[in-house]
Amino acid sequence: TGRLSDRTALVTGGSRGIGRAISLRLAAEGALVAVHYGHRTEAAEEAVAEIEAAGGRAFALRAELGVPGDAETLWSAFDKGLSEYGARPGLDILVNNAGITLPKRISDVSEEEYDRLFAVNVKAPFFVIKEGLTRLRDGGRIINISSGVTRIAMPNISAYSMTKGALDTLTLALAPELGPRGITVNAVAPGFTYTEINPTLKVPEVLNAYAATSVFNRIGRPSDIADVVAFVASDDARWVTGQLLDATGGAHIG
Ligand code: NDP
Repeated sequence: TGRLSDRTALVTGGSRGIGRAISLRLAAEGALVAVHYGHRTEAAEEAVAEIEAAGGRAFALRAELGVPGDAETLWSAFDKGLSEYGARPGLDILVNNAGITLPKRISDVSEEEYDRLFAVNVKAPFFVIKEGLTRLRDGGRIINISSGVTRIAMPNISAYSMTKGALDTLTLALAPELGPRGITVNAVAPGFTYTEINPTLKVPEVLNAYAATSVFNRIGRPSDIADVVAFVASDDARWVTGQLLDATGGAHIG
């Protein structure tokens, strides 16, 4: 039994990278975790197996985000997964983590790429929240995974940065609406974190340059982010809402 033992969580993109670390951490605190993914079934199954091996509870659900009807697909898969698991309907913690990047300067971004980026990173979480509100119990949590790039200028990922700015704004705008239900809405902003979204981190010079942006002179680990999310998800964070929690290892703070 942990501090989330009576809770149900849904982590979008919970199969890999930061989302997997969040899924593992919430499950370690006792939550039943719905591990969402879009394409790579084996990665989701691996995440569930890892959680179960540690004594936790989880199931996987697939829904491609960024396509019409994505939120509906996700929630019906969630409802079905819960009932097959024998758990009560509804949830307490929604983590909007799934996202894609677009490492291109403005001159190289096509209209199709821009639309796809916004469909996955902005439109999907918006409608996932909208359709999720009937399932989210009072006293619940909505946690959006943003990025340090809403504070730090990075022209090589300008369109991606805009998508995270939209999530920050949604976080602020929704908090008052859900306050009466005791639901908090917060965003957590990772800095450079070692996952597959950043293939260039395999190049030692790039890794060292990115590490040097943090006052701790290293790249973030997915668990560095998951621990902050676990705090926001817990009752300890009940008085924190509408906020962006910077989890960049103090990147570019002065
Ligand atoms: P990864 O690429 O390692 O993992 C992405 C996850 O999202 C996977 O589970 C993937 O599942 C899922 N996903 C991606 N696209 C879709 C889609 N269209 N439909 C459904 N699921 C999808 O990314 P990270 O762990 O690095 O990133 C997680 C979040 O953190 C993102 O929002 C990212 O923007 C943010 N972030 C990451 C930083 C970093 O340096 N890593 C820095 C700042 C923010 P599948 O493969 O099955 O589709």
